[in-house]
Amino acid sequence: MNKRILSLSVLLSFVFIVTISYSENKKTKTEKKGMEEQTKALDPKNMDTSVKPGDNFYRYVNGGWIKAHPVPPEYSQYGAFTVLYEQNQKKLKSLIDEISNKKDAKKKTAAQRIRDFYNSGMDTVTINKKGVSPLNKYFNDINNLKSKDDVVKYTAYLHRKGIYPLFYFFVEADQRNSSMNIANLYQGGLGLPDVDYYTNDNDATKRLRKAYTDNIKKILMLKGEDEKTAGKHAQNILNLETKLAKTSFTRVEQRDPLRNYNKMPLKELEKLSPDINWNEYFKTLGAADPGEINVGQKKFFKGIGDILNETDMDTWKAYLTWNVLNATAPYLSDDFVNQNFDFYGKTLSGTQKLQPRWKRVLNTVSGNLGEDLGKLYVEKYFPASSKERMVKLVNNLRTAFGQRIEKLDWMSDETKKKALEKLDAITVKIGYPDKWKDYTPLIISPDDYLGNVISSSEFEFNRNLKKLGKPVDKTEWGMTPQTVNAYYNPSNNEIVFPAAILQPPFFNPDADDAVNYGAIGVVIGHEMTHGFDDQGRMYDKDGNLNDWWTKEDAEKFKKKTKKLVDLYDNYVVLDSLHVNGKLTLGENIADLGGLNISHQAYINSLNGKTPQPVDGFTPEQRFYMGYAQVWRQSIRPEELKRRLKVDVHSPGEARVNIPPFNIDSFIKAFDIKPGDKLFIPKEKRAYIW
Ligand SMILES: [Zn+2]
Repeated sequence: MNKRILSLSVLLSFVFIVTISYSENKKTKTEKKGMEEQTKALDPKNMDTSVKPGDNFYRYVNGGWIKAHPVPPEYSQYGAFTVLYEQNQKKLKSLIDEISNKKDAKKKTAAQRIRDFYNSGMDTVTINKKGVSPLNKYFNDINNLKSKDDVVKYTAYLHRKGIYPLFYFFVEADQRNSSMNIANLYQGGLGLPDVDYYTNDNDATKRLRKAYTDNIKKILMLKGEDEKTAGKHAQNILNLETKLAKTSFTRVEQRDPLRNYNKMPLKELEKLSPDINWNEYFKTLGAADPGEINVGQKKFFKGIGDILNETDMDTWKAYLTWNVLNATAPYLSDDFVNQNFDFYGKTLSGTQKLQPRWKRVLNTVSGNLGEDLGKLYVEKYFPASSKERMVKLVNNLRTAFGQRIEKLDWMSDETKKKALEKLDAITVKIGYPDKWKDYTPLIISPDDYLGNVISSSEFEFNRNLKKLGKPVDKTEWGMTPQTVNAYYNPSNNEIVFPAAILQPPFFNPDADDAVNYGAIGVVIGHEMTHGFDDQGRMYDKDGNLNDWWTKEDAEKFKKKTKKLVDLYDNYVVLDSLHVNGKLTLGENIADLGGLNISHQAYINSLNGKTPQPVDGFTPEQRFYMGYAQVWRQSIRPEELKRRLKVDVHSPGEARVNIPPFNIDSFIKAFDIKPGDKLFIPKEKRAYIW
């Protein structure tokens, strides 16, 4: 799941996309005048050679860098991804500055939209003068709701605006008929990041719940409620959300594609939760005839009918009001921005300082006018040569993966044949889309920041809704080119690499091949492996949920992945906190597969030659060091704790300290021995792809 509840700026996203790294609602990124500046492939300053590679490979490669880069006050974590993100922000800012000086930008052009959106966000005088008043219409509407049917109807109205009380609605490919788009309902409605925050009763979680309730109360008071009423509402909202949480799937349960696929006609949904007026919901949404609907979590949609009935109108009104305020707080006056940051930034993630305004506004513009800005970004900053080199690399990786599949000693020829067909069918997208999204009908005003955020969310909602019942447009991108990330989308069977990740330390034109194969090569292999991880393997070459495995091979696969679950479950990251092996399994399979495949591709590329060591390190060593440096990161304990619950990716440290220790070439390259702290005995190692 790639959805954030805090902010309007996250638009409808593909539920099943799997990324290389955690994705925030920060959709932008970078400076460095193209790529001409040289970046050293591996800088010895970044290492800590007082640590033995076998005791802590992550520290060995990254210890110097981590020591020199504590988390800056405005971040909750700081690493290779953040550095690129910052460089990108400067690049995007210079693009915006150029545009902002153009007073004559024609109406309804990208330049006009970007300039006016950005300026509206920087105009704090107007924003502060308006205070909460731009939301008065919503408050009045909510106040006038008379019945539970009204609550349902108003929920649909807010969904159109990109505000998501109760649950999510979106249109995307049918998981069993990937060429057609259908309606989807997905659990939601929580203001805290995960179900666990509502159900866990340890002291730390109780304190966070209390802080969350205080935050709701304070926001409601800023809106104008008196302390007593606001306090009562906050408690009722927490109680209501707790009920929603208890009827929700956990994150681990959400990882099972089969359990989350329940396609049914409207009539059946009405039987599942008869107390919700679905007809009214879909009518208000603009989809009176939604066709067949995929109900992500039957348990949840059955549960909310009862919750609707047993909750009084006053609480529903408070809950909807809170949803409007919580989604819009970052775009309101300073008092709301600061209170929102106080909880979601400081308390939940440990961030000390709000980012400067220009960065926040830039993120909003980049999130809401993603491809408008992305087009300008790639025109100026993405060299065509990068795309050519990537195409070659991807081909080499595909060949290497195919060789490895053919040689697998645990898989039958029957399943191998299907796996190879699927590998061949993977579509590759590099840099930016061939066809850009059109924003022409969207009206952006120079003096209405919140209005711009809501109109662009509604615009995106309508764009998505129009796909209902139509064939899937496989040329679309689920990420903007300025995003430092990559993804695999199982229903398109495609791997996608936005322009912004094709920079050092991921992709370094000045680096030796060993380092590039260890970095971007593994990223490519990682995304390819997602097509064959515990979720991806359930989809066939055409992107349909369709079992192509023999029963025996599937059983063997499960046994092998269980070893990986155990290795991560046993890895301690902080005090007594462990990685959740089941939650992160897909990513961990992809990391291990990515390393194996890219290493094979690197060996192939050498044609039997052995390159000389560089700076005293052999090519084999540099391959693994190139991998390790991508995951360097300083992180605050609050953020680490939060991510262990919500992020399907393991922390950077575990991503470096576990997968290589399963691989013979790494063990040989660094002479890892029994007795080394990270040594894994042979029988416990995972050999999958
Ligand atoms: Zn991934």
